[in-house]
Amino acid sequence: MYWEKDIETSDRRELEKLQVQRLKKTIEYAGRSPFYGNVFKQNGITPESFRSIADIRKLPFTTKQDLRDNFPYGFLTLPKKEIIRLHSSSGTTGNPTVIFHNRHDINSWANLMARSLYCAGIRDTDVFQNICGYGLFTGGLGFQYGIERLGCLSIPAGAGNSQRQIKLMLDYGTTAAHAIPSYLTRLYEVFQAEGLDPKKDTQLKTLVIGAEPHTEEQRRRIEEMFGVKAYNSFGLSEMNGPGVAFECQYQNGLHIWEDCYIVEIIDPETLLPVPDGETGELVMTTLDREAMPLIRYRTRDLTRIIPGPCACGRTHARLDRITGRSDDMFIIKGCNVFPMQIEGVLMKIPEVGSDYLITLETINGNDEMIVEVEVKKDWFNGDISKLDKLTRVITNQIRDEVLTKPIVKLVEPGSLPKSEGKAVRVKDLRQALQISNYQH
Ligand code: ADP
Ligand code: ZN
Repeated sequence: MYWEKDIETSDRRELEKLQVQRLKKTIEYAGRSPFYGNVFKQNGITPESFRSIADIRKLPFTTKQDLRDNFPYGFLTLPKKEIIRLHSSSGTTGNPTVIFHNRHDINSWANLMARSLYCAGIRDTDVFQNICGYGLFTGGLGFQYGIERLGCLSIPAGAGNSQRQIKLMLDYGTTAAHAIPSYLTRLYEVFQAEGLDPKKDTQLKTLVIGAEPHTEEQRRRIEEMFGVKAYNSFGLSEMNGPGVAFECQYQNGLHIWEDCYIVEIIDPETLLPVPDGETGELVMTTLDREAMPLIRYRTRDLTRIIPGPCACGRTHARLDRITGRSDDMFIIKGCNVFPMQIEGVLMKIPEVGSDYLITLETINGNDEMIVEVEVKKDWFNGDISKLDKLTRVITNQIRDEVLTKPIVKLVEPGSLPKSEGKAVRVKDLRQALQISNYQH
């Protein structure tokens, strides 16, 4: 049973007391690492420097670049003998970032995951299929430990192989599953191709979706396709992985577990806190990690804290849906665009299928935004005038949203390239062009 009522519904003052106490312990641990040892010395910081949570502003931010510069062991607080696992990002853009866990960290993470799943209505009676990569990616093992701690029957299905996923669901009567949203829309197409309807032919009740940005419209579509409730799950490897913030049954924001994290929302330009309820960059401090605590870590994720209490009774703050990372934004013809703005428009249009791709390209000296959109099968029947009309509708709606006119191309379902893991929504060929010109 993972309804940790005393902590989850704790009075805010009590919660802050616990946070300060845990912050002191975190500072004590962090100070043992070469990186923070140095930072604290330079800033004259000791565990006694903290009387309230606001005192955290005495400390500088930690960035992904700091993690890279001190790769691999510069943040480690304990001898390697004490460490039992590492997780790491793929490292395509430089040194990978790596996160280490000791036994305490793994245990605390499993508890957070179990608590999160319970919060989303999963119970030990569920048969839970974890459809995601088991390996360095935190979604596999992170969920696995939580599902087991909660006591569900776990199916560690791993990623991909849709036919096999469907067979597992049917053979074992899966009632709950976790997957990234972009994969679920593909899985649905495979159900259809097999002549199956997940609403009728499976026992699915609950889906947990996360790990990549997605819109409310996308969530509603997934709920509709599978006949389930789909709950948003947020996490990042630097803060453990999944289990950082989760939706409750009210689906109105993600409770972020403040007994284990201090949350700040800052303006990414000025680095000052934004006024309550406004959107900015999420900054987090771990409060229950020992091997590699992180302090004031700049996640680059953009969100806001939803003001007011939640009807479920949990007092931990709620994060609004993450709209993307600050570096997801691109500028085209002087307009700032987030891919999720385009997804929001597309997913409201019933003819639109499950996938889309935004390509930025220089055509005849002009930068253009090309949006390829998969259209549902029944609509792709060669009726050119209907497709023309749909193209115009999509073009206008995107232009109204992002204030620049896209070139919309309708394509057949399943024709856009699929990535192994998280969906790639934007291909920026403008840069590639510059680089190749440069090389010639
Ligand atoms: P990587 O940085 O390589 O993607 P992670 O697996 O640690 O590695 O991914 C964490 C990131 O994934 C978060 O910082 C955030 O950008 C994104 N993310 C995770 N969950 C969600 C979610 N529910 N909604 C939107 N974005 C999410
Ligand atoms: Zn709630």
